[in-house]
Amino acid sequence: ASRFAVPGASRARSEALHAEALQHIVGGVNSPSRSFKAVGGGAPVVMKRGQGAYFWDVDDNQYIDYLCAYGPIIAGHAHPHITEAITRAAASGTLYGTPTELEIRLARMLKDAIPSLDKVRFVNSGTEAVMTTIRVARAYTGRSKIIKFAGCYHGHSDLVLVAAGSGPSTLGIPDSAGIPQSIASEVITVPFNDIDALKAALERWGDETAAVMVEPIVGNFGMVMPKPGFLEELCRLTRAAGAVVIYDEVITGFRFHYGTAQTFGAFPDQAAIEPDLTALGKIIGGGLPIGAYGGRKDIMEQVAPLGPAYQAGTMAGNPASIASGIACLEVLQQPGVYERMDRLAAGLADGLADLASRHGVPLTVNRIRGSFSTHFCEHPVTNYDEAQDTDGEAFARFFRLMLERGVCLAPSKYEAWFLTTAHTEEDIARTLEAAAEAFAEMGR
Ligand code: PLP
Repeated sequence: ASRFAVPGASRARSEALHAEALQHIVGGVNSPSRSFKAVGGGAPVVMKRGQGAYFWDVDDNQYIDYLCAYGPIIAGHAHPHITEAITRAAASGTLYGTPTELEIRLARMLKDAIPSLDKVRFVNSGTEAVMTTIRVARAYTGRSKIIKFAGCYHGHSDLVLVAAGSGPSTLGIPDSAGIPQSIASEVITVPFNDIDALKAALERWGDETAAVMVEPIVGNFGMVMPKPGFLEELCRLTRAAGAVVIYDEVITGFRFHYGTAQTFGAFPDQAAIEPDLTALGKIIGGGLPIGAYGGRKDIMEQVAPLGPAYQAGTMAGNPASIASGIACLEVLQQPGVYERMDRLAAGLADGLADLASRHGVPLTVNRIRGSFSTHFCEHPVTNYDEAQDTDGEAFARFFRLMLERGVCLAPSKYEAWFLTTAHTEEDIARTLEAAAEAFAEMGR
């Protein structure tokens, strides 16, 4: 019998397993963002089961999950429709190395939801998707430089790890080691939401710039909306310089509505913010590894076998990931699912802001529909500097107080909270009870 974690609950088995993991797996984790380094250290909790909105750890403590695997788990863990699709795919063989009918179906589903995609290609991760958009943009333009925005994370390929966001910034590594200066010098980083900085960068390097890469709604230094006109101007200036607009929608794809940030409806002139290329991942795989990139036909036709830009993959378009992605999108096509996540997230985000203020804890909450970020500060967060200038120790304390009370958040002050189709009003109420205790401790 399991129950929600309470302060003082044993995590003996998590600690023992982490000690063992440290001997075999570098840092004891397979992605640095899973370590508790940014929240005061110690053993990360080892989970053994996920079901719906809940996790159970190896010591049988239960948690409400808002980490949601950094985004993909939008239908909750082990959703029956997705599980069935994966099981069916597995029973017919998980990897063919040939075309399949299913992959055409998922490609059509993406195109139907995202009109800027004339052609797509499936890969295995968001990292691969982004990395390839850059190669394709370089092939198309014959130029080499990339402009990106400070604090936006685009995966761990060389070019985009220069002045990267959430994971690396949390760990205090502005650039990764192992990236040659020759590569770093191909990347120009400007502040998000600062159109003058972009303009200045394009004035200086515009004729060498292959692409401007952006998270159109940021998910990696909290959730941050572009200021009115920012994306429109970004697209206009980039194209005027003869460069390609790339949107990294790995987090934002199917996160806020059945579509992407570019189809969100929050922007007055929709046509003016359409990118040339888009990178996708996370939700479109329903919890199995996936990435996809796509966009304008003439640019995508640079890709082999049609064109000179090479990109391939043994696992790309594997039937299990594709079936899982289709099933996940089918769940998201059900009427009302996004409205429900929006409503639950609003109740939770407003409740957190209210409790924090009642206990005198400075908190800024940035919510966009069913996801939000919590920043321990008094100022608004609209760019990376403002996201950095927040109280990391307060976040670490809050993170631990919540974990002890059965609420699982990402162990970084830059990461978002994600709602799923599985969360309930009762989960929100329980989370707010935990938060009331946490803020009371912190306000003391
Ligand atoms: N792009 C964005 C916006 C992301 O948030 C991430 C991962 O968090 C990536 C790309 C990289 O995706 P993956 O971890 O699947 O390689």
